[in-house]
Amino acid sequence: MQHLHFGDGKKYMIQTLGCQMNDHDSEVMAAIVENMGYLPASEPGEADLIIINTCAVRKKPEDKVASMLGKYNALKDSKKDLIIAVGGCMTQQKNSALYIKKRFKQVDLVFGTHALPRLPELLDRARHNKETVVDIEENYSPREGLPVSRLSIYQAWVPIIYGCNNYCSYCVVPYVRGYERSRNIKDIIEEVTALAKNGYKEITLLGQNVNSYGQDLPDNTSFADLLVELNQIDDLARIRFMTSHPKDLSPGLIDVVAQNEKICEHFHLPLQSGSNRILEMMNRGYTREHYLELVQVIKDSIQEVSITSDIIVGFPGETETDFLETLDVLTEARFDSTFAFIYSPRKGTAAEKLKDNNSYEEKEKRLQTLNNLQQRIAIELNNLLVGQSCEVLVEGTSKSNPDLQTGRTRTNKLVHFPGPGDLSGKIVQVLITEARAWNLLGEMREEPQ
Ligand code: SAH
Ligand code: SF4
Repeated sequence: MQHLHFGDGKKYMIQTLGCQMNDHDSEVMAAIVENMGYLPASEPGEADLIIINTCAVRKKPEDKVASMLGKYNALKDSKKDLIIAVGGCMTQQKNSALYIKKRFKQVDLVFGTHALPRLPELLDRARHNKETVVDIEENYSPREGLPVSRLSIYQAWVPIIYGCNNYCSYCVVPYVRGYERSRNIKDIIEEVTALAKNGYKEITLLGQNVNSYGQDLPDNTSFADLLVELNQIDDLARIRFMTSHPKDLSPGLIDVVAQNEKICEHFHLPLQSGSNRILEMMNRGYTREHYLELVQVIKDSIQEVSITSDIIVGFPGETETDFLETLDVLTEARFDSTFAFIYSPRKGTAAEKLKDNNSYEEKEKRLQTLNNLQQRIAIELNNLLVGQSCEVLVEGTSKSNPDLQTGRTRTNKLVHFPGPGDLSGKIVQVLITEARAWNLLGEMREEPQ
């Protein structure tokens, strides 16, 4: 890559939209451009290269790209050499890639998720080309061996499976991320061992459906096998994983989480809907009864476990009865938190063609009702923690109050507590003194480890 060292003395900025997989892809992009000589810029005005890593899961993050590009137009006017690149899930789709090329003339490069390893050559072409360079090839290039420049020095994202084969009817992910490809267990173990040696305390294993891990590998490795292996790595304190698909989460895996001390007691288990009729239309592959049974097995097997979920309201044809069934599951499952979204039609998906009778106002009302119910449940659950001591991995000083340190419990709850200076990356015991819906307040019990 020596000849592509044109970033020397220049600065870059990456703006990331979307999920943790995108956060991690941005860490890979950052390392790739740092290897070309670029240094991080602290604000867009300082940058010679701006990359937007886009999300396509709903319309809202897509709209955000247009507003960001509107702003960068002015920067380009004052800095002719500025390279603007737009990559990720949105631009992996041909219609969006061509729209950006046509509508935003200041964009130099449009690239999809599969083009990531080709970023240096693409940027080189983009800086010489008058026309916008577009790479939305659907053939995968192997991701193994790409560099990573991590944002945190104690918490790391570790992808274990790319892509998705599930084709939930509302979801664009399989189209923009391709089919499932598991990484080799050996490569993952090597990466995590190196992270632990370098002081990382927590890793989060990433995949659209981590429970499918290994099904495409020749040696039949399973996600449970991987967890057992990773649990043996010295110096590592916490192992997290997301997302678990309810149709593939087995009691065996729940046992592995229960029995291996480094694996955190938290499942992100998207429900999407509590109505069997809607679940079927969504092509989710499970029923509300199966889902509730899983929740019960998790709670019976693991003490102090948290369960979080994703919900879609206003799926085409969702009736009031369907919606009430979702609320029922919330009441029964008692999630620690949920991420609820109004259904957003996505081009090319099966659900795009379904007839939708509900008004947007009705959907907003349902979302509000659901969020109110969930907030009540969250406060009730968090109140149970008052008076208990929790292990907290500190993320740093609170953004809103410099006297407070902020961290997460093993169950992934946010905790604020007064601390003696910056304790980032330390594991401390915190006595919970006050509960709120979205976070907890506490006092540190012992000196940090
Ligand atoms: N692989 C994960 C989810 C990835 S997308 C899983 O299977 O659960 C993250 C969340 O976005 C989903 O759980 C879903 O709740 C939401 N989502 C996906 N497509 C959506 C759409 N078209 N409209 C609204 N929400 C959507
Ligand atoms: Fe989308 Fe379903 Fe795959 Fe999750 S499992 S990424 S919701 S298609």
